[in-house]
Amino acid sequence: MSKLKIAIQKSGRLSDDSIKLFKECGIKFEVGKSKLKSTSRNFPADFLFLRDDDIPGYVEDGVADVGIVGENVLVEYGKDVDNVKALGFSKCRLSLAVPREVDYPGVQYFEGKSIATSYPNLLQKYLDENGVKAHIHVISGSVEIAPGIGLAEGVCDIVSTGGTLLSNGLKEVETIFRSEALMVANKSLSAEKKALLDRILFRIDAVQKAQN
Ligand code: ATP
Ligand code: ZN
Repeated sequence: MSKLKIAIQKSGRLSDDSIKLFKECGIKFEVGKSKLKSTSRNFPADFLFLRDDDIPGYVEDGVADVGIVGENVLVEYGKDVDNVKALGFSKCRLSLAVPREVDYPGVQYFEGKSIATSYPNLLQKYLDENGVKAHIHVISGSVEIAPGIGLAEGVCDIVSTGGTLLSNGLKEVETIFRSEALMVANKSLSAEKKALLDRILFRIDAVQKAQN
């Protein structure tokens, strides 16, 4: 019998709720710091613990059958997968922010300026839609420090409460994308794997109904 390979984030803002989701569905598996893979004891599934950025690509390629990833990452990487369910956790937004002291006139502020981000595709699309030409400076982490060290005049980063921006002397000026965790699946799952996924989706629906 085939097993469903499920990719979840190894450690980060999606991990706890992803693990909780499957536990609430009654699917038991072990999680350990150094574990990269875990086989469920009571459901035909293998869990793969990965960096979230790698999950869309692995699901597209079929290395994993199903994965949980932020919509921001999914759209940024543009991978061809089925979006099977919005999960309602890890809600956040991708926003533009500028130093607190800037007298912000609107999005045209960014014309000719440089913006640091880990989301160049989402940002470029937003700038194009708004007719703004800016230089996008791609950095992979700690984007908020870019203005402070003279690397960029603005940032485009993930925000939930805004606390990180504030403590780095920045203020949020535009929201460009809203995100939550999604369950995605490979586009050509076998009938057997599809049936396993349906069983999981059915259980998730039941859990969500019970909580509302
Ligand atoms: P990894 O090491 O796996 O690459 P990461 O540092 O890229 O991790 P996290 O910060 O754990 O990623 O964020 C994972 C996802 O959680 C983000 O892509 C986004 O969808 C969501 N997220 C990020 N920040 C927040 C936040 N402050 N509140 C809620 N959700 C968030
Ligand atoms: Zn990541």
